[in-house]
Amino acid sequence: MTNKNPKSKDMEKIVAFCKRKGFIFPTCEIYGGLANSYSYGPYGVELKNNIKKLWWREFVQKRSDMIGMDGPILLNSKLWKASGHTKGFNDAMVDCKACKKRYRADHVIKELTGEDMEGDLEGMTKKLQNGLKCPECGESKWTNVKKMSQMFKTEMNGIEGPVYLRPETAGAIFADFKNIMDSIRVKIPFGIAQIGKAFRNEIVARNFIFRIREFEQMEIEYFIDPKIAWEEIFEDWLKKQEDFALKIGAKKENLRRYEHPKEKLSHYSKKTVDIEYNFPFGFGELFGLAHRGDFDLTSHSKASNEKLEYFDTVNNRKFTPHVIEPTVGLDRLILTAICSAYKEEKIETGQRVVMNFPKEISPIKIAIFPLLKNKPKLVKKAREIYDLLKNNYMCEFDDNGNIGKRYRRQDEIGTPYCVTIDFDTLEKDNTVTIRDRNSMEQERVEIKKLGNYFTDKL
Ligand code: ATP
Repeated sequence: MTNKNPKSKDMEKIVAFCKRKGFIFPTCEIYGGLANSYSYGPYGVELKNNIKKLWWREFVQKRSDMIGMDGPILLNSKLWKASGHTKGFNDAMVDCKACKKRYRADHVIKELTGEDMEGDLEGMTKKLQNGLKCPECGESKWTNVKKMSQMFKTEMNGIEGPVYLRPETAGAIFADFKNIMDSIRVKIPFGIAQIGKAFRNEIVARNFIFRIREFEQMEIEYFIDPKIAWEEIFEDWLKKQEDFALKIGAKKENLRRYEHPKEKLSHYSKKTVDIEYNFPFGFGELFGLAHRGDFDLTSHSKASNEKLEYFDTVNNRKFTPHVIEPTVGLDRLILTAICSAYKEEKIETGQRVVMNFPKEISPIKIAIFPLLKNKPKLVKKAREIYDLLKNNYMCEFDDNGNIGKRYRRQDEIGTPYCVTIDFDTLEKDNTVTIRDRNSMEQERVEIKKLGNYFTDKL
């Protein structure tokens, strides 16, 4: 990731905005917080759930070649031994001896020189000790670069040795592959999808929710016949991932692909490509896509002594499928959606902040206002409409302040439609005013047509 921070002010603005509007804020602030951990507030959790639902709909519900599962966070430790995580899931750490600031060594070197030295511990130590200056204090007094495991450990009653909080969700898909094969009929190629929390003891958590220690992943293992050409399937997954980013509001020009050079690939991977998004702090990985061969199923098969194979009934043949793994961090998608949606606009009455979310992911879909708070008949009618619409949509009732202020509040959280109940509603024609977030235009719609109106619009 590029770490130059030309737009760090934009990021500060986003972070402050998220806190002020109840999207995302530092957790346990009354106790001094906890090392860059965040909670999703009332609007944040709606946004998060909407993105999850949309992903599941696009990648599971709408595809006949996909099924889902939901495994636990705590899994048998043998799994992490077989996958290589217990030994090899490490990052490179270095401390500045002068100011005591801790860095992920490859990140600080990339920031200072642009060079990618990930994995080369000795090379990184030499590079740093050869005069690179600590970005914090300007001194060049570095410790040697050391490996640090990213695995969080805990204990479980009745179990000997440590149990790990999963560092990725994919593990259970492989470990439970046999049960899935035994219980459901699928025809290759097919994929298994899972959404859930993952935990990584990152050396430095930073850039808001981009790099945190407890995050959510949405992962797919897509199983293919090793004999077929995989390139087209791989390209299709890349495209599908990019399309998903566009669906949540990312602009095409802010996305780019980064293909991992051959010499940096894991021994089993045929190809790995990241899709990066241009965050205010620079480009950073959003999606990953890797061809992992049969590494996972073979490793778990060897370690467990269970055959993890697919039986092709058409050709009467058994084989270990290869796997293509599309993966994405939900929190990074949320940050993408927020950065893409945030807009400051000059309007007739001054300025407004508007979150230009695609309607599908907007936390609140419709806000309902009685024109005046102190007119019981208006309030009663507005409540009736709210009670009607809330069955199908996430709605908010607001009777506080003048209508202009209420519009501004809804613009700021990205609500696509506001419905106002006024005296004409009661006395004249049973119509309400609907105001559109983007165009700010208003139209009158009959109450009895509201159901159809919103079915069309949303
Ligand atoms: P990075 O290089 O940024 O550390 P990675 O290559 O280690 O990421 P993967 O192991 O491929 O990441 O994890 C899959 C996805 O999970 C990533 O594409 C990213 O969106 C997300 N992710 C990984 N680490 C974190 C983290 N610490 N916080 C939030 N999301 C993360």
